[in-house]
Amino acid sequence: MQRTTMSSSAERQNVSIGGPITRGLPGRLDTSLASRLLHYRGMPGYEAARKIILEHVAVLPSETVPVLSAVNRVLASDVTVPWDMPRWDNSAMDGFAVRSADCTGPVRLRVMGYLPAGGLPPGPIRPGEAIRIMTGAPLPPGADAIAPLEDVQEEGDAIQLRSAVKPGTHVRRQGEDFRAGEPALRAGTVVGPGEVSLLASVSQLAVPVVRRARVAILSTGDELVEPGEPIGPGQIYNSNALAVAAAVLQAGGEPINLGIARDDRPALRALLEKGLTADALVTSAGVSMGDRDLVRAVLEELSVRQVFWKVDIKPGRPTAFAVRGSTPVFSLPGNPVSTLLTFEQFVRPALLRMMGHRHVFRPLLRALLKEGLTKAPGRVNLARVRLSRRDDGVLLASTAGNQETGILKTLLRADGIAIIPAEQGTLEAGQPVSVQVLRPGFDGLEA
Ligand code: AMP
Ligand code: MG
Repeated sequence: MQRTTMSSSAERQNVSIGGPITRGLPGRLDTSLASRLLHYRGMPGYEAARKIILEHVAVLPSETVPVLSAVNRVLASDVTVPWDMPRWDNSAMDGFAVRSADCTGPVRLRVMGYLPAGGLPPGPIRPGEAIRIMTGAPLPPGADAIAPLEDVQEEGDAIQLRSAVKPGTHVRRQGEDFRAGEPALRAGTVVGPGEVSLLASVSQLAVPVVRRARVAILSTGDELVEPGEPIGPGQIYNSNALAVAAAVLQAGGEPINLGIARDDRPALRALLEKGLTADALVTSAGVSMGDRDLVRAVLEELSVRQVFWKVDIKPGRPTAFAVRGSTPVFSLPGNPVSTLLTFEQFVRPALLRMMGHRHVFRPLLRALLKEGLTKAPGRVNLARVRLSRRDDGVLLASTAGNQETGILKTLLRADGIAIIPAEQGTLEAGQPVSVQVLRPGFDGLEA
């Protein structure tokens, strides 16, 4: 289906309008221009759909958890350090604590003691004296510099310095890293090993982070059987529930598998109602009008407000988005490949935002097409691609295989998804494309 120039510009307008909604204000967008344009066209494009979804979700409340449970999660408040870091001036090297005033040139000093890390200075050092000191030990009173081991010659209980030592040499100053009371970590920071290092170094064992999103997952379809159960003719295993659960886990959420809903209104209603008590609800399948209408109709009965029920993309067109309050409801297409592709594009960013992440979209890499790619202008295409590097380092994208949504193999082979703009027609080999990299840490250099 081709879009007219008028409708694409209306859609582009959608991108910049509307505002975030707050928890407890259901329906606020109903009167907005975004909403009216949307319902008029019924089908936002790729960018508009992603933007609209983010406008409809809110950051979840926070909870205090042990530091290791906070890893990959988002700090809900600033962390200030209770004391100067380092807490005292200390040695940055194994060597000798000296008075720089004694060391304006080659000099012989008497060694008065030994100070290991964890030790306390035996006393102040006086003119002509030095103390053997290890990295991290507090600087003895009177000392203001360290002569590293490799710069001195030891002669019994004395040392000979070959050259001058300037004040402050190899000394870590009290508070040079952080000052007492300074916010060392900011709310919104994703906790990783560095953040845990800071927390542990100030003896903070628990930290407030945004709650993980509890995501209810519901599969629909009479042909479905749960994996592990015996299967009959015409039946297929419900792979989507576990696949979506895996995607939820990867995004940092907590999946709740609601099982399979049959074409039975009361049963569907009961399951959807349960799903709406979670932080987000993801359903899959029911693309045919009859099925879809049932899910949509029952959601409506449950006061869920439909925002859009199709996105102008290929594949993944029958992706619906609705909200109750700030609980988002995603109805994804049933084809396992489409389910995962649309989860990636629409659900993952929403879950990340709910869990407090600022960066919710995967980075895009620019790659040159290794071979041509057939496409009709009109809607964004999502192409599963493999990435490689040319000898000169330029990133190349080539198709990962048959792009039909029935082919899971192509998704399994793909390094990323090329996002081909709506207005773009068929592409020639050598033309640039933007690729969303799916493999963490992928740089195209591995074999
Ligand atoms: P539908 O969206 O209901 O037309 O389904 C599209 C295709 O996806 C059909 O071949 C379904 O059998 C398949 N499908 C639907 N739901 C699931 C599921 N939960 N797991 C695996 N395949 C599914
Ligand atoms: Mg079906």
